[in-house]
Amino acid sequence: MIWYPYEQMKKMKDPYKIVDAEGVYIFTEDKKLIDSVSSWWSVIHGYRNPKITEAIKNQADKFSHVMLGGLTHDSVEKLSDKLADFLPGDLDYCFFSDSGSVAVEVALKMALQYYVNKNDLKRTKILSLTHAYHGDTFKTMEAGDDEDYHFILKAYGENPNVIHIDTNIDDLEKAFLKYHEELNCFIVEPLLQGAGGMRMYDISFLKRARELCDEYGVLLIFDEVATGFGRTGNRFVSDLVLPDIIVLGKALTGGHIGHAATVANKKVFDGFYSDDDTHALMHGPTFMGNALACSAALASIEIFEAEDYMSKIKHIEELTKEYMEGFTAEGIMEVRMMGGCVCIEVEDGSMLKGYQEFAYERGVFARPFLNYLYAMVPYIITDDELLKVLSTMKEWFNK
Ligand SMILES: *Cc1c(COP(=O)(O)O)cnc(C)c1O
Repeated sequence: MIWYPYEQMKKMKDPYKIVDAEGVYIFTEDKKLIDSVSSWWSVIHGYRNPKITEAIKNQADKFSHVMLGGLTHDSVEKLSDKLADFLPGDLDYCFFSDSGSVAVEVALKMALQYYVNKNDLKRTKILSLTHAYHGDTFKTMEAGDDEDYHFILKAYGENPNVIHIDTNIDDLEKAFLKYHEELNCFIVEPLLQGAGGMRMYDISFLKRARELCDEYGVLLIFDEVATGFGRTGNRFVSDLVLPDIIVLGKALTGGHIGHAATVANKKVFDGFYSDDDTHALMHGPTFMGNALACSAALASIEIFEAEDYMSKIKHIEELTKEYMEGFTAEGIMEVRMMGGCVCIEVEDGSMLKGYQEFAYERGVFARPFLNYLYAMVPYIITDDELLKVLSTMKEWFNK
C-alpha cells in the first residue's frame, strides 16, 4: 500500500488518479484539470515538454545513470557549466543531489564545515526565519519553523544552535549584535516563504542581511528551491542580492525528474580546497548527477533562456494583479501576489474545506493548506486558463 505524504491515512480521501498529462493539464479518466499547483511548483514548462522529453530519451539511449564517485559524464559537465554561466556572480561550484531537502542539508553542512576547516569552532549557530520551510529531513526541519514539524520540538526540545527571527530589519540587526561571534550562517527563502504560508517580504531585508553577513563573516544561504527559475518575478532572487550558497531544486529539471543542486561561491569552495584530506566535503548521494536528470535540467534551462520566460512571468503577474488586486470577501485576511504566485490568506482554515472538490468540478486542480489558498501555475499558461484558475478562487468566496 502507498503511504501518502502529509496525510492522516485513516481519514484521507482517495487521491485523483492521473492517467495522462500535457501542457498545463492533468487528466483523470473523466476530467481535464488545469494544474494550478504545477506539481509542487516544479512543472514550470507544463507537462510532457517535447524538448525535455527528447533530451531524456536521447540520454536513456546511451545510459540512464552512472555514479559520480570516480566517474563523470557529458550531461553533468554541461549542466555544471551551464549553471555557472546562468547563475549570478561566482556561484560556480555545483554539488548535485536528488532532492531539495538533501541539497539544503548539503548547504548547511558546507557552511558548518567551512568554519571548522578554518579551525574556528565557535561558529555553531544557524540563523533562520520564523515560518521558514527548508525541507523534511531532520536538520532542515530544525532550520525550518513549519507548524507541521513542531512535534519535533515536543519530543526533542528546541535546538539551541538554531535561532529564528521575523523578516524585519530590527530583529535582524538585534540577532547579529547578540550572536555574531557564534553565527555560522543565515539561511532564508528569499522574498517568498512558500510552505510557511506564501509570505512575501521586501528586498531591503535581504540587502541589510548581506551587509551584516559581510561585516561579521557570516555565510548567507539562499534556499531558492521554490523561488528559483522565475517564481518571484526575478530569475533568481540571487540576481538582486548575491548569497554565498544557493540551493536549487523543484523547477531545476522543469519538474520532469527529481534533482537538486547546492551551488557555492569561490570563497566557500576555497574553504575546502587544500592538501588536508579532512577538509574535503564528505557527502555523496547515490544518484547525484543522474544523467537523465542532468539532461532534463539542461533542456529546461535552455528553454527558459530561449523562450523569454521572464516576460511570460511578468505577464502572469500583471494579469493576476489586474484581476485579484483589491479582491476581498468575508473571512479573507489578505490577498498577496508576487511573480507567478498568488495567495489568499483566510482567517480560518476550515473556510477552505471543500475547495479542492469545488475546483475539481470546474476543471482546476488545487491543493490549499492551512489558511492558504494559492496558485503557482506553469509559466506556459494562457490568459484564459489563468483567468479560469483565478475566477475559480474568487467564485469560492462569492458562492
Ligand atoms: C520544497 C522545498 C524544499 C525541499 O525540497 P524536496 O525536493 O521536497 O526535498 C526545500 N526548500 C524549499 C524552500 C522548498 O520549497
